[in-house]
Amino acid sequence: MDEQVTALTDTFGRKHDYLRISLTERCNMRCFYCMPEEGIPLRPREEFMRQEELLSIAGTFVSMGVRKIRLTGGEPLVRRDAAEIIEGLSKLPVELAITTNGVLVDRFIDVFQRSGLRNVNVSLDSLDAERMHRIARRDHFEQIMANIRLLMREGFDVKVNVVLIRGTNEDEIGDFVQWTAQENINVRFIEFMPFDGNKWDWSKGISLQEVLDTVGERFGAGNIERMIDGPHDTAKHYRINGHKGTFAVISTVTNPFCDSCNRLRLTADGRMKNCLFSGTETDLLQAYRKGEDITALIRDTVLHKKKARGGMETMEEFRKPENHAGNRAMQTIGG
Ligand code: SAM
Ligand code: SF4
Repeated sequence: MDEQVTALTDTFGRKHDYLRISLTERCNMRCFYCMPEEGIPLRPREEFMRQEELLSIAGTFVSMGVRKIRLTGGEPLVRRDAAEIIEGLSKLPVELAITTNGVLVDRFIDVFQRSGLRNVNVSLDSLDAERMHRIARRDHFEQIMANIRLLMREGFDVKVNVVLIRGTNEDEIGDFVQWTAQENINVRFIEFMPFDGNKWDWSKGISLQEVLDTVGERFGAGNIERMIDGPHDTAKHYRINGHKGTFAVISTVTNPFCDSCNRLRLTADGRMKNCLFSGTETDLLQAYRKGEDITALIRDTVLHKKKARGGMETMEEFRKPENHAGNRAMQTIGG
């Protein structure tokens, strides 16, 4: 085997060393672009990975070359045994990270510290309490802000995720960037993405270019410094001259980053997805429970990864709702 090729290299030569694991489909918020107001139907507990199954399947990925694991959901911290899972995963030779809505972070600070989890992405779509309440249909703004400040005080690497939706929060782009003036924080604007059932329509999306134009109007185009992105970064990074923090745009819709993708996904019910937009998935949990060797299934799923966005290479294909019908809703994949 070529030195550069690992068990998780796909047919396009992309090496996968990053696994995103969804701990649960459930959530303590109801962001309108992600979750239906009434939540999602409860499914029997046996359909989801138990703690020891999750740790064992994660261990198999690590033995095949995964070096970074990010926990997501739903809201990963609402899972009752989230602390034990984080501690269990910390025994593997991986960098641990989490994406959370921030509501419960204060209860987990010690666990994060003990487990060496330093990288925390917190979602916050508005800097206005009332607007945030309308978006998330839950009133947790003050708690989230307090927890972002707590994470910063404790020296965590904090990124704030902002999904931009026209008519909802695009007028706050400048205020979010202003936040980076005094704080060493990374604000990441995310282009609104289509998933099964989320009534996506790109006229509601705000593109990378529109973000840059808006920031340019407020801070001066000449003051926007383009930074060097990491090799597998999904975000394009920028800094306003003189600001302590940075901002970035995750432009999945207008500038996909599929060529350098190194990510795989494991859903809370133990299905592997080779792409966020993939219409197919592989049931690792059933195979694991039958005592089958899941390494062959994992390898095969990697080899079936499409070149871009689950096969929707052009914007025309990406725009068609029927092309998303085979995929799940975001909170059941893990964003
Ligand atoms: N509950 C956690 C949170 O909100 O951070 C983790 C799961 S959430 C599904 C992960 C990320 O996906 C969040 O930053 C969320 O804002 C983002 N997201 C959800 N639906 C999206 C959509 N349709 N387009 C773009 N980003 C989306
Ligand atoms: Fe919950 Fe995160 Fe989805 Fe909001 S974006 S409903 S916090 S899973």
